[in-house]
Amino acid sequence: TAPLLTSLAAPGDDRPDALSVAGRALSREELLGAAGAVAARIAGAPVVAVRATATPETVVAVVGALLAGVPVVPVPPDSGLAERDHILRDSGATLLLTGEAVDAPVETVPVSLTERAAWTKAEPDPESTAFILYTSGTTGAPKGALISRRAVAADLDGLAAAWAWTAEDTLVHGLPLFHVHGLVLGVLGALRTGSRLVHTGKPTPAAYAAADGSLYFGVPTVWNRVVQDPDSARALASARLLVSGSAPLPAPVFRDLERLTGQRPIERYGMTETLITISTRADGERRPGYVGTPLSGISTRIAAEEGAEIGELQLTGPTLFDGYLNRPEATAGSYTEDGWFRTGDIAAVDPDGFHRIVGRASTDMIKSGGYRIGAGEVENALLDHPAVREAAVVGAPHEDLGQEIVAYVVADGIGEQELIDFVASQLSVHKRPRKVRFLEALPRNAMGKPQKKLLPPA
Ligand code: ATP
Ligand code: MG
Repeated sequence: TAPLLTSLAAPGDDRPDALSVAGRALSREELLGAAGAVAARIAGAPVVAVRATATPETVVAVVGALLAGVPVVPVPPDSGLAERDHILRDSGATLLLTGEAVDAPVETVPVSLTERAAWTKAEPDPESTAFILYTSGTTGAPKGALISRRAVAADLDGLAAAWAWTAEDTLVHGLPLFHVHGLVLGVLGALRTGSRLVHTGKPTPAAYAAADGSLYFGVPTVWNRVVQDPDSARALASARLLVSGSAPLPAPVFRDLERLTGQRPIERYGMTETLITISTRADGERRPGYVGTPLSGISTRIAAEEGAEIGELQLTGPTLFDGYLNRPEATAGSYTEDGWFRTGDIAAVDPDGFHRIVGRASTDMIKSGGYRIGAGEVENALLDHPAVREAAVVGAPHEDLGQEIVAYVVADGIGEQELIDFVASQLSVHKRPRKVRFLEALPRNAMGKPQKKLLPPA
């Protein structure tokens, strides 16, 4: 694996708009010069935070920290002060890099696009920390994951191979720049492959349609909005790959994308702690409900109980994190005795190696009447009904059964009993929901992850 930043100033790339973020363009040379000025300013700091707005300043700040070899922690710009201060304290950041003046409990450092300096120091040790990335906080408080430069480089190379991602591509997305998806893949991936990057500021269907990209990234909510706007969706017909991740892509959205754009989306699976580990491939089959096969260098196994087909997905490989910051017990608990990483996700693998994510062990493994049922399996069965757009299934406490299956759906023109009967006709009868609740929309966070803890009581 080549060092993380070697290809940053791709030779011959003198496009004035190699990078365009929220309508402002930078060439590679301008990016590197501005990042060099940041590197000179922060060199030697233990950890720096970046106020990660969707702006070119954020890209400059992150690249500057990577040049200087200072671990960088992106802070969501719209987080409440309590969350921001928690991240600053927990990460030990002494500086906050920011494009706009803000009040903060640590020293702020302004990031300028026009201040430039050459940075000529050698690339830092690949085993050193590139990022402290906070998890999304879906199952508990966000945890800071230590991500090495080697892990990032290995992951981006694995993805470039799976997606045939090259300097010929233009990547378009509008995702937040403080998680793996938008920042590591969506910015560093473009820099490493040498492709052009267009960040649309916000991931709206109209902005995606207006950008002339070959590769588009979105979370399922983004793709759901795209298919609700058929004109914008059709404008993506000439793209090379439409990629979905961060949460399960509902099968109806997959099918609508295919109908409107003529192409099947790529699905990929990952987490903050492991980066992206499983994906369908540019030259391979794509099936709704499946995330594909492990990237090069990644091994997977399913820790299933005797006789069961689904179980916890466990992983090893070069893209894994170096532990949670300040949480030795959580770190130890995330590995098996023989050193595999426990994803906490429930999955199954088909005989041809295609992986299917069924849900999370903590919330999506329902125990009802002596059976173990993966919520995702019931969700997929519900989504197979043409009237259902979104589905979330949970186990609610039940005197007799231990838990009963409750389905929350976004659907038009169908009743509770009809849906229960439909699932019973698709799956074993014990997997049918006992109750169906109809909602206008599922509660989701900024990355489109369903927030089951925010569902109304059954
Ligand atoms: P926390 O760990 O703080 O509870 P989180 O797990 O949501 O939050 P992330 O690391 O951002 O934080 O998300 C990783 C999770 O996202 C995975 O464990 C998995 O449950 C889900 N996920 C990611 N991609 C996919 C996908 N393609 N299909 C289904 N689930 C996915
Ligand atoms: Mg997690």
